Amino acid sequence: MGMFDWIVRAGIQDASAQLLPQRIDLPAVDSNWTVEWRPERNAGLDCSRASNHITLGHTHALDAVSNLQHWLKLEARRHLPDWLAVVAEDTGHRYQRVSVRLQRGRWGSCSSRGTISLNAKLLMLPPDAVRYVLVHELCHTLHMNHSAAFWAEVTRHQPDWRQQARHIRTLHRGLPAWTQVATRPGK
Ligand SMILES: [Zn+2]
Repeated sequence: MGMFDWIVRAGIQDASAQLLPQRIDLPAVDSNWTVEWRPERNAGLDCSRASNHITLGHTHALDAVSNLQHWLKLEARRHLPDWLAVVAEDTGHRYQRVSVRLQRGRWGSCSSRGTISLNAKLLMLPPDAVRYVLVHELCHTLHMNHSAAFWAEVTRHQPDWRQQARHIRTLHRGLPAWTQVATRPGK
């Protein structure tokens, strides 16, 4: 490794360490976590559900960020598919499949085959905002567009959707940096 590579790596390491949170709030599911980085441990991520505490035992901060993102995805998979099923029942809309990923841009999407993809970061929104996203994607199983008919269907199931949509746009700007950074090229 040349001197330049070393400087770049050290710089990344520093910047990544800045990203690591000390706490994580997941208002969607009313849970809060404390986070501690213990680089000397080299034992990966340890998540204690008894104390809502996450220990990041990674030598490199960027690995810790990456593992934390993976944790958020798994956490979202514990909650969002069941939640979607409940809202589908409420609205009477049917979908084929649900997938939960950590995405940069979108909160959710719905394919023409009826697969609904949800962003793990939804856990960082208030429950009403999450419900709006779920209703929105479920209504796409009926209308694959943003036509007047689509919005009428959304309004039927979530009358305050405009307020939720506005709220989400504001919240998006305030998402913690550790959820936004790409830790692996091409991911
Ligand atoms: Zn849409």
